[in-house]
Amino acid sequence: MIYLDNAATTKVTEDVFEAMKPYFCENYANPSAVYSFAGKSMKAVDEARHEVASLIGAKDNEIYFTAGGSEADNWAIKAAAEANKDKGKHIITSTIEHHAVLHTCQYLEKQGFEVTYVGVDENGTIKLDELKAAIRPDTILITVMAANNEIGTIEPLKEIGAIAREHHILFHTDAVQAYGHIPLNVDELGIDMLSASGHKFHAPKGIGFLYIRNGVKIGSFVQGGAQERSRRAGTLNTSGIVGMGAAAKLAGEKLQENSKKEIALRDHLIERVLAEIPYSRLNGERVNRLPGNANFCFRFIEGESLLILLDQKGICASSGSACTSGSLDPSHVLLAIGLPHEIAHGSLRLTLSEDTTKEEIDFTVDELKKIVERLRSMSPLYEDFVKSGKQ
Ligand SMILES: *Cc1c(COP(=O)(O)O)cnc(C)c1O
Repeated sequence: MIYLDNAATTKVTEDVFEAMKPYFCENYANPSAVYSFAGKSMKAVDEARHEVASLIGAKDNEIYFTAGGSEADNWAIKAAAEANKDKGKHIITSTIEHHAVLHTCQYLEKQGFEVTYVGVDENGTIKLDELKAAIRPDTILITVMAANNEIGTIEPLKEIGAIAREHHILFHTDAVQAYGHIPLNVDELGIDMLSASGHKFHAPKGIGFLYIRNGVKIGSFVQGGAQERSRRAGTLNTSGIVGMGAAAKLAGEKLQENSKKEIALRDHLIERVLAEIPYSRLNGERVNRLPGNANFCFRFIEGESLLILLDQKGICASSGSACTSGSLDPSHVLLAIGLPHEIAHGSLRLTLSEDTTKEEIDFTVDELKKIVERLRSMSPLYEDFVKSGKQ
């Protein structure tokens, strides 16, 4: 099997798994309990919190563990809206956000908030002029992702942070794809809130966190016990937290090495596909993109058929995002960068990890070439196109 869907989820690395193991059958105490047996668990949670915070230059007490990225996004946006509604009810986001952000914004619209969806250019970079122009006296929150999960484009966080600061507006970023993969520093980038998710950087599924800058006005999301400084109730997911801490530490130590490796392989993949497969295009910013992300469109091809035929060769890939596959609508991200429906339908996302090899990439491109050729040979649209001699 060749796994090229690391933007959907990653493998839990052996070291992370080993770090977690003692927190199931041995140190199973509720970390909030008072006896010393629980102290071991709380100590491990504190250490993990420190690792997670360090990677983005945050303070330990600014990290709030959640059950993943979607929860962190929901919390940041809904609670910031609620806490600041006396100041105003206007929120700014982008057209290419993950559904965890977009659907939360749509929910708030039903609750009487107004949302401006700022557009992106043909490479998926947010239009800063449009963002600035959207700011109003009643704007309370800007939420723009750090890097896009489909096309890999990295957004200009520093510029957005500066704009938000200048206007005293809260700035939240969904950094689920970026955290552990590219350098991020909440102070340098002017970020007030940041969402991340363990399973996108080799920790298990169902654990994530929201960074909330000290002093930011925002309420709790889950009501109940006093965990997470009373802001997120619920018994701590000790093993998940420990795993995420271990994964954050590893990601930090290997950030440069891994990204260098992935960028070289990704560029090799992109160059081969564009050179060897006719009528293919790369989606997303060519240089300023996530190290492991490649996203293509192939004209006259259905993304779904591509995925099925790749699967028959043992290759795991995705078209658009995991959340939209299964639906026949083309990706909102590909439409937002200006692709027509028929081209957006023929998209393929291949996302690498530091374990991906050149052999795997070469095999994938070899198979992809054959599959694209085969699908086109069955396509009446392609036949017409060739006959018309337009090319
Ligand atoms: C995966 C993902 C999420 C959702 O995270 P979960 O932990 O799966 O809930 C949110 N935003 C982006 C950009 C993602 O890639």
